[in-house]
Amino acid sequence: MRSRRKLEKEADILLTGVEEHLKFLSLLGVEFVTRDSSDLSLEETIRSCQRCPLAQTRTHAVPGEGDLNAELMFVGEAPGRDEDIQGRPFVGKAGQLLTKIIHAMSFQREEVYITNVVKCRPPSNRNPQGNEIASCKDYLLTQIEMIKPKVIVTLGKVAADFFIRSSLGMTALRGDFYDFHRTKVMPTFHPSYLIRNEGNKKLKKMVWEDMKKVMAFLGKK
Ligand code: URA
Repeated sequence: MRSRRKLEKEADILLTGVEEHLKFLSLLGVEFVTRDSSDLSLEETIRSCQRCPLAQTRTHAVPGEGDLNAELMFVGEAPGRDEDIQGRPFVGKAGQLLTKIIHAMSFQREEVYITNVVKCRPPSNRNPQGNEIASCKDYLLTQIEMIKPKVIVTLGKVAADFFIRSSLGMTALRGDFYDFHRTKVMPTFHPSYLIRNEGNKKLKKMVWEDMKKVMAFLGKK
């Protein structure tokens, strides 16, 4: 039997940890962290979200998928048509290319976590608007706080802008690590951009250089 004193000490350590997390989240501007009275998980909360007008036009919200202990997280812009239909991130053409990139990095898709800045598809795949990004912000921040990845790879400008305050375009921005609280962020081009510029070998090479830096950081060969 553990002594009462030891149990109290353990409870104290636990509470301090929880307090630190809450402080961290509130520093990031997260307004909700506790589950509501119906005890919905974060995923269920996202799937039933009505916070912005995209809820009216989506088929499925797309929370994200992968290992909740992943050291590597990929963050895209928003679900496209295929993702909206299936309720899963990066399952269309861009997703197939992302899966190839993940495999080339010596990871399985299930070993990383994949999500988007905005969890619902914007109509006609337009860029998500400021109010939509703001409405969704807490979801991504909470996912990062839960998963605690060592590296976040951002795909495209919308995702890069979420983490990095800079007026630089993607070409200048990519290829360097940036700090986002305790996590390294590596911005790179969006797979859809690579597909749209298929003939441009330089783009592919740049993405691979960026991913090699991520692999080196994570000790992957
Ligand atoms: N593009 C994105 O940014 N995210 C997806 O999930 C699919 C395509």
